[in-house]
Amino acid sequence: MSHTDNIDFLCGNVSADENGHLLFAGQDTAALAREYGTPLYLMDEERIRERCRTYIKGLKDAFGDKGQALFASKAASFKRIYEIMKEEKMGIDLVSSGEIYTAARAGFGMEKSFFHGNNKTEHELETAIKNGVGCIIIDSFHEVDVIDQLAEKYGRKQNVGLRIKPGVDAHTHKYIMTGNEDSKFGFGIEDETADYMLQLICEKENLVLSTLHCHIGSQIFELESFAVTVDIMTDYLKKITEKYGISVREINFGGGFGIHYTNEDKPLEFSEYVALIAEKLSENCKKKELGEIGFVVEPGRSIVGEAGTTLYTIGAIKNIPGIRTDVSVDGGMTDNPRTALYQAEYLCTVANKMNEEADTKVSIAGRCCESGDMLIWDTMIQQPAYKDILAVFSTGAYCYSMASNYNRIPRPPVAVTCKGEDKLVVKREIPMDNSKDLVNSLDIALAEYHCNNKNYEKGLSIYR
Ligand code: PLP
Repeated sequence: MSHTDNIDFLCGNVSADENGHLLFAGQDTAALAREYGTPLYLMDEERIRERCRTYIKGLKDAFGDKGQALFASKAASFKRIYEIMKEEKMGIDLVSSGEIYTAARAGFGMEKSFFHGNNKTEHELETAIKNGVGCIIIDSFHEVDVIDQLAEKYGRKQNVGLRIKPGVDAHTHKYIMTGNEDSKFGFGIEDETADYMLQLICEKENLVLSTLHCHIGSQIFELESFAVTVDIMTDYLKKITEKYGISVREINFGGGFGIHYTNEDKPLEFSEYVALIAEKLSENCKKKELGEIGFVVEPGRSIVGEAGTTLYTIGAIKNIPGIRTDVSVDGGMTDNPRTALYQAEYLCTVANKMNEEADTKVSIAGRCCESGDMLIWDTMIQQPAYKDILAVFSTGAYCYSMASNYNRIPRPPVAVTCKGEDKLVVKREIPMDNSKDLVNSLDIALAEYHCNNKNYEKGLSIYR
């Protein structure tokens, strides 16, 4: 398999032209790097849309109107993404007032949104209710009262769900495993805290319990973990129906479907997943006499992950004799903290040397003042040189959305490619000391939105 085939297998949308330039969704990456500068996040809009359609069709075939797909927008949150989700008729999952604000600015209809978080502020809950968020997933004790009071204030009967810990140990990195008993998310089935919370919710006049929610983790490859979760959640549904007369008509199984980062990753076909889960769920519902249960999934990574590539410019190249060769790029943990955070792995290539052999073993280092700021350990690339363009693949999820300003480094822009065209959708941040200009791509209105209290001035000053 040639170097290009290897990467094409990962992303399905890259090739090379006769000049040895990497093409991403048909676009010359060397030209895009020149046009937008680096680092640059590239997103393939058609690929994102294709993934949404796979989810929607898969759910419709298996569950009819009872299946619902939400995009977990924490994976990539910017205005254009919400516009795409709206056009593709996806629901969304939101976790902060910033995400609510951005989705609302994109004209996303909030009734198709679920609001999550283990510690939502009162201001965020009020924002959610004012904006007509469809369902709030309760994940703390005090929220029950707060949401009930706010719903009354705004004259709403608010749909809510409860986040449950199914106690499933998904085989993934412990920082992205969330359904196990010692997770900070959710309420336990074993310790009966979930029972207590559900009864509390049912006592509230302005709350309508519509959903049981769980999410067992991320970057999961085995069907078994999901299948076990169906058993546990339907058992639990039966228990609460019989013991407390609580009726919930929908289970949200979260996201977590794994994607290709390297050749070792073997993602599940969604059609396989949905067929098995649909069968399991219907079997369970029949056996446990639960009637027909609505089925929600909220994938993030698997919708946008493989649709993203980051372009960097190579700078310092340093050989540490007998140890390794570090190739430093003009980004790093500020635009992609995943390697530093949980030893994520990636493939990369020198985008302007696609006609050369990948015969040089290097590690890709970021530019931050942290020894742990490495993007890729021990990878094979073409002989690198100062000012070459390096492309890192499968960076569409949890990179832009997890980016930071560490070392006061501005966050890169996001450009989307669609039908042979490219378009800037998030501007590059530029450091400015003019008081009205924030050193980030959130705008002043968003800062006001977040800091809508007496500390507003203080809140803003940190960005100056
Ligand atoms: N739902 C919830 C509650 C999550 O916490 C997450 C990720 O952290 C997701 C959905 C999306 O997971 P993934 O991006 O792995 O599909």
